[in-house]
Amino acid sequence: MTIEGACFCGAVRYRVDGQLTDARSCHCSMCRKAFSAQASAYALVEPSEFTWLIGKELLITYESKNGAGLQFCSICGSTLCGTYNGKVHGVTLGCVEGDPGVKIGMHIFVGSKAPWEVIPEGVPQYEEEPPTNMD
Ligand SMILES: [Zn+2]
Ligand SMILES: [Zn+2]
Repeated sequence: MTIEGACFCGAVRYRVDGQLTDARSCHCSMCRKAFSAQASAYALVEPSEFTWLIGKELLITYESKNGAGLQFCSICGSTLCGTYNGKVHGVTLGCVEGDPGVKIGMHIFVGSKAPWEVIPEGVPQYEEEPPTNMD
């Protein structure tokens, strides 16, 4: 399938020629800051299936110590994707347009969720990382 996504202001757009996988929401304190929200909402992509359509030059990358990074639109601040060692490996579901064919499959690090958050029922929740056989 073809999936497109864009930032809030529309200056940056991308396309994924393939499937999103492993949609999940992480409630740790770092994800709250990184996504400016109660949690992340994120799915993985195959790096070779991801293409920037417009605005790649407008991206700002914030890399943390372990090689993982996030890329933002420098105009509107939307977090568009996650990178690992410089390659896009996932997208933020909030910037995906339409139905990407996946739903959040698990809530992780719910043990450190914000005191004001209410997590929806009906989806597996894990205090920290999910069990490794779920990956
Ligand atoms: Zn933007
Ligand atoms: Zn997290």
